[in-house]
Amino acid sequence: MTAATPIPTSRTLVTALPGPRSQELQSRRVAAVATGVSKGFPVFIERGAGAIVVDVDGNALLDLGSGIAVTSIGHGVTTVSAAIAEQADRFLHTCFMVTPYEGYVAVCEALNAIAPVPGEKRSALFNSGAEAVENAVKIARSATGKPAIAVFDHAYHGRTNLTMALTAKNMPYKHRFGPFAPDIYRVPMSYPFRDHLSGPDAAARAISQLEAQIGATNLAAVLIEPIQGEGGFIVPAPGFLGAIADWCRANDVVFIADEIQSGFCRTGDWFALNDEGVTADLVTTAKGIAGGMPLAAVTGRADLMEAVHEGGLGGTYGGNPVACAAAVAAISVMEETDLAARARSIGKVMTSALRTLSERLDGIGDVRGRGAMIAVELVEPGTLNPNAAAAKAVVAACNAEGVLVLSCGTYGNVIRLLPPLVITDEQLHDGLTVLAGALEAALS
Ligand SMILES: *Cc1c(COP(=O)(O)O)cnc(C)c1O
Repeated sequence: MTAATPIPTSRTLVTALPGPRSQELQSRRVAAVATGVSKGFPVFIERGAGAIVVDVDGNALLDLGSGIAVTSIGHGVTTVSAAIAEQADRFLHTCFMVTPYEGYVAVCEALNAIAPVPGEKRSALFNSGAEAVENAVKIARSATGKPAIAVFDHAYHGRTNLTMALTAKNMPYKHRFGPFAPDIYRVPMSYPFRDHLSGPDAAARAISQLEAQIGATNLAAVLIEPIQGEGGFIVPAPGFLGAIADWCRANDVVFIADEIQSGFCRTGDWFALNDEGVTADLVTTAKGIAGGMPLAAVTGRADLMEAVHEGGLGGTYGGNPVACAAAVAAISVMEETDLAARARSIGKVMTSALRTLSERLDGIGDVRGRGAMIAVELVEPGTLNPNAAAAKAVVAACNAEGVLVLSCGTYGNVIRLLPPLVITDEQLHDGLTVLAGALEAALS
């Protein structure tokens, strides 16, 4: 396939998956790439447009994962690739800490305009989500002069040493990689499907642990994903986030929202926190921020952000000019095409299809999420016992038919859907039909 060949607008398989060229590349990969890097579905991608990716054998696959919530504006967005090319022609790097450039400032202005943080704001840019989370912790500690950080059950915040300590799940993220950073405390998350608690009751449970086991005078920050990502798309009960944020504010504890997976229109608004009108002191972003280029940020209350001494934040590549050009273009696309509204309508279609299915299939314990961030949690019928084997079978069956879906969850029993927000209705129905067939086969 040459670059000029048009990319199909629907799923089209011309070989069994993975095809022969993917298999050749897979053997090269096995000989060259470290096995510690997850292998995913070994179909090698050549090009993409919208919600379709085309592999090296010419198969057109439907992408319902967006490379883990990154390509929310779709593949092959020409305004973004043109902005990247234009910047690449001018210069690739100066290091913003050495000699600055406008793109970095423009991204910070855009983030300050949309982040769910009250009052005057400042931002700083980094390369990855984990790096943004580490820096949010540095800022909270520096601003409060306190050491401890509280995180939640099922949390995922990254794979660096500090963020491994913040992440809940042992396998595969932490196993044999310790010792971990100290002064990290874990408290219970609101998980309505499993704890049946109201938001305020779940918050009271968490707060009593914060007070009894850490003490507000030792606690720099509470760090939470407003909708948990890797942990299983857990949506806290209404009132939970607001109660935790209020407690933080009353106790000089920084409330940090990790919106790395849930941000940038994914949940039907700029950020998941917007839904209940909750605000944070610091917000971490990455993934969907730049249409696929690596970029991350911390945006926060100016008084906290400015508490850090000059030179205390940064890095060689943070806010790379090409990534910044992509982010400015990607954020404009989200705004101009109202991708938040599209996420809400995608959410309605996905939720109603999955709810209908759950009436027939006892193995679907829960359908949850918001906007285009929707999941089904699979259990043994009539129990809360996780059914990870079914989730694995569903992913494999969808993949074999050329539909890319991801699993997640502390127990590996959740199927998550994160389609590009530009997915067409036809593509969405096609994907849901394949998923329904796979769920039916695995659960009945
Ligand atoms: C992916 C993710 C991270 C880590 O981001 P990386 O870019 O992979 O380092 C942190 N927090 C959340 C909520 C995430 O989904």
